[in-house]
Amino acid sequence: MHTLTKASPRFAIQQFFWIAMDWLYPPSCAGCGKNGERLCRSCLQQITPIDHQTSCPRCDLPQVNHLCPDCQSQPPVFEQLRSYSVYDGSLRRAIHRLKYENDLPLADTLCRFLISLFAEQNWQVNLICPVPLSHQRQRQRGYNQSALLAQLLGWALSIPFTNKALYRIRETRSQVGLNAVQRRENVKGAFSAVPSIVQNKTVLVVDDIATTSATLSACAEALKSAGASQVFAITLARTVQIEQS
Ligand SMILES: [Zn+2]
Ligand SMILES: [Zn+2]
Repeated sequence: MHTLTKASPRFAIQQFFWIAMDWLYPPSCAGCGKNGERLCRSCLQQITPIDHQTSCPRCDLPQVNHLCPDCQSQPPVFEQLRSYSVYDGSLRRAIHRLKYENDLPLADTLCRFLISLFAEQNWQVNLICPVPLSHQRQRQRGYNQSALLAQLLGWALSIPFTNKALYRIRETRSQVGLNAVQRRENVKGAFSAVPSIVQNKTVLVVDDIATTSATLSACAEALKSAGASQVFAITLARTVQIEQS
């Protein structure tokens, strides 16, 4: 685990809060359901980091050994995307629980993957923001799981976080079931960014899952149009095939 030399006190405070809550209301493992921990040792061991030596240098698609066909034919607007692991097994179940079952302490558990992944990069980031949810989903869910992760990452790294920089200017349909071309079309021009917040900034965009990286690229496009100098992207998980569920 990466040592947090620069973490804001708020990061430690939220950790203590959730540790106290775990003590009062013992959690069950998000991967296998076993009582006692938010993610048990055996489920943690199943989550293997993507080998960035063999993934696409631009979008992190695993095991391609060079720039992947998508990045060759239509390079993404962000400089680089890095994901911690493949969207599978216990990580998939944990993200699902964070997203749909209101399991907020899991954001603290899962954020640790982002912290260690960030520590391996050579990015000079000065603003962190999440991929915004659609208004409808934000209303239904009540929270944006990517904003929770981004906020914690900002505290852990002492880098300013904002959820005001990037917003949706039109609703998009779910990316589930669409192919790469359809996904790109679906999110094209869906985002906008606030120039006074992002101008000349190197922005890190945070999301839970990257599927084709189309959404992250559309976010990067909005940020750069508003004057951001560079955009990097980080996610917990990367799908390898088009996700169907
Ligand atoms: Zn488990
Ligand atoms: Zn690629």
